[in-house]
Amino acid sequence: MSTLRFQALKETLNRKAVEVKEPARRSEIFSKNVFNEPVMRQFLTKDSYKSVMDAIEYGTKIDRNLSDHISTGMKEWAISKGATHYTHWFQPLTGSSAEKHDAFFETVGDGAAIEKFGGGALVQQEPDASSFPNGGIRNTFEARGYTAWDPTSPAFVLGTTLCIPTVFVSYTGEALDYKAPLLRSLQALDNAATDVVKYFNKKVTKVNATLGWEQEYFLIDSALAASRPDITLAGRTLLGHPPAKGQQLDDHYFGSIPTRVLNFMRDMENECMLLGIPVKTRHNEVAPNQFELAPIFEEVNLAVDHNLLLMDVMDKVADRHHFKVLFHEKPFAGVNGSGKHNNWSLATNEGTNLLSPGSTPMKNLQFLTFFINTIKAVYDNEELLRASIATASNDHRLGANEAPPAIISVFIGSQLTEVLDELEKVTDGKLSPQEKTELKLNVVGKIPEILLDNTDRNRTSPFAFTGNKFEFRAVGSTANCANPMTVLNSIVAKQLKDFKSQVDQLIKEKKMKKDDAIFNVLREYIKESKKIRFEGDGYGEAWEKEAKKRGLSNNKTTPQALKVKVSDEAIKLYESLGVMNKVEIEARHEIEVEEYAMHIQIEGRILGDIARNHVIPTAIRYQNILIDNVRGLKEIYGNDSYKKFASEQLGIIEDVSTHIEKINKAITEMINARKEANKLENMEDRAFAYCDNVRPFFDDIRYHCDKLEILVDDELWPLTKYRELLFTR
Ligand code: ADP
Ligand code: MG
Repeated sequence: MSTLRFQALKETLNRKAVEVKEPARRSEIFSKNVFNEPVMRQFLTKDSYKSVMDAIEYGTKIDRNLSDHISTGMKEWAISKGATHYTHWFQPLTGSSAEKHDAFFETVGDGAAIEKFGGGALVQQEPDASSFPNGGIRNTFEARGYTAWDPTSPAFVLGTTLCIPTVFVSYTGEALDYKAPLLRSLQALDNAATDVVKYFNKKVTKVNATLGWEQEYFLIDSALAASRPDITLAGRTLLGHPPAKGQQLDDHYFGSIPTRVLNFMRDMENECMLLGIPVKTRHNEVAPNQFELAPIFEEVNLAVDHNLLLMDVMDKVADRHHFKVLFHEKPFAGVNGSGKHNNWSLATNEGTNLLSPGSTPMKNLQFLTFFINTIKAVYDNEELLRASIATASNDHRLGANEAPPAIISVFIGSQLTEVLDELEKVTDGKLSPQEKTELKLNVVGKIPEILLDNTDRNRTSPFAFTGNKFEFRAVGSTANCANPMTVLNSIVAKQLKDFKSQVDQLIKEKKMKKDDAIFNVLREYIKESKKIRFEGDGYGEAWEKEAKKRGLSNNKTTPQALKVKVSDEAIKLYESLGVMNKVEIEARHEIEVEEYAMHIQIEGRILGDIARNHVIPTAIRYQNILIDNVRGLKEIYGNDSYKKFASEQLGIIEDVSTHIEKINKAITEMINARKEANKLENMEDRAFAYCDNVRPFFDDIRYHCDKLEILVDDELWPLTKYRELLFTR
């Protein structure tokens, strides 16, 4: 086995950077493989084009008679791009994207054939996808699920396949994917936000949520990855002693990018360009072999699709460069993990960023309205927001011993804190003319100026305001952003609806002026949501204590965090907005707890196998070498004095035995705990059993394996070591 490790190392050391062909200008290839507006104008009739555009803008239904024209235009374009097949591209609750390819090719009798793609095949498909998780929504007796075209995210050609973004729903209408609830939450947010914007600008007809994600990832050589069964099967190392040098020196962060990696990035970015994914920045991250990329932000639904597509493209391009991308939140213990910051804002159809302070007091009141409402929404629903990012792999990043806590708080910076402190003092009831002038001049009017030099950037906050957007940083690097975005959109939509009705009530019943009413409601929100605001070190122990005093949740594990998703309040929230119904919510919870249990089960099996089949036999082999050595010493020096020369060896022989015993015992106990957990029929109970009774053995087993790693002869050790995984490129 150790031969595999050394072979992999040799292979890695001999790698050459793979050459990449760059276009003269990237802008020239941008969106070349996307069926976007200009292309539609070229390939569709006027009527068809208009009906697609209306569907995108106003959500109107596409006329059945036109869908044949649209699909034909789409097919002709796709064939011109080299496509032979088409697929409905969807996002089942497994976390990745799914596709089933069909050829355009069809026989028409007499040995002749044509390329065909009818409107029906574009609009709706019935993949036989009964094996995707559905949480009991579709049992075998019920109708199957179907995928339906989402025209708001443009079709694209990937390789030789035309991919059509779709939602995946059951025949009874329940969402079986991430996209359907996301689209509904965006609709709810649009309605609520547009109503509120009208206080400030009557001409606004639509509000889009925007998302700019930042994707962190590790890259390791594919041969090294293949030499580790834990990386291959679990996407992370389940054991491995920390290297002598880790990230202490911060010498990787923003350092020069190694050529092999840079070529991978360039290749991947060019693929992204073709697919219309507007990638913009790239750099080294804190941990060795960790990197990040970020695009220009887009409308949320499109940005979510692009992130999923990107992860797929990264995998494929990495293959060409003999790399494996590790998206896992914590592939290596002791060094930084990976996240996917979700930068989120709201933009009107006129292009105004509602979370960007403006040039006039009125625009700033609009800014403050959306700013404060978002903070209030996060405060009222902090636990739900935490639940939206809860997965077994993200548990290693949140609430674990070397990671930020699982507490949601909001950072806004000292200047905006001052503004909110001032606003908190405004008069209860109608504001006097002096007070208004004073507010306009000294508080609201000053915002743009102060934000420009607002340089304090708190990197430890899970939800930070960064000048013109909120950045939800606690999202895991493997996540489908649709999940946290659906929650954020929904809670802000609900909050804005409440705000609107409270302001209207003050105007109607207390005969207040609009501004006065807005100031009055905002003042109360500032007071009510104060506990969620935290400007200090979010990673410190003091904060955990303080947060507890404030009554903020700190759900460290996924089963615990997920509980709130099926609470009465959560169900009421989603149902009132039309985002999800009770059946869908409960099905999702069921899927997530089951997924958690399976995840821990699989990791437990892998760890048990590696420890028993790789580590223990290696340790015994090494122990035998020592035993031979001691026997030889005894032969030479005789019974009386050999111990003088063999004492260290004897010590190691004993240590090896102790570690072996501890490992084997813990594995046996872990297996028993798994058996007990598997007996539990209720999936939530099972998830808790895996979390509380199975998972704790991991650390123990790992500890003793890692001790053996530093005892045993390096030549014998079968598992590629941390220093090799993290520092070879
Ligand atoms: P940083 O936060 O690292 O200083 P930027 O401010 O340039 O960098 O933006 C980081 C991310 O935020 C980028 O992915 C960018 O697309 C995104 N972003 C910027 N403005 C918005 C916005 N209005 N809505 C959503 N995302 C945004
Ligand atoms: Mg950032």
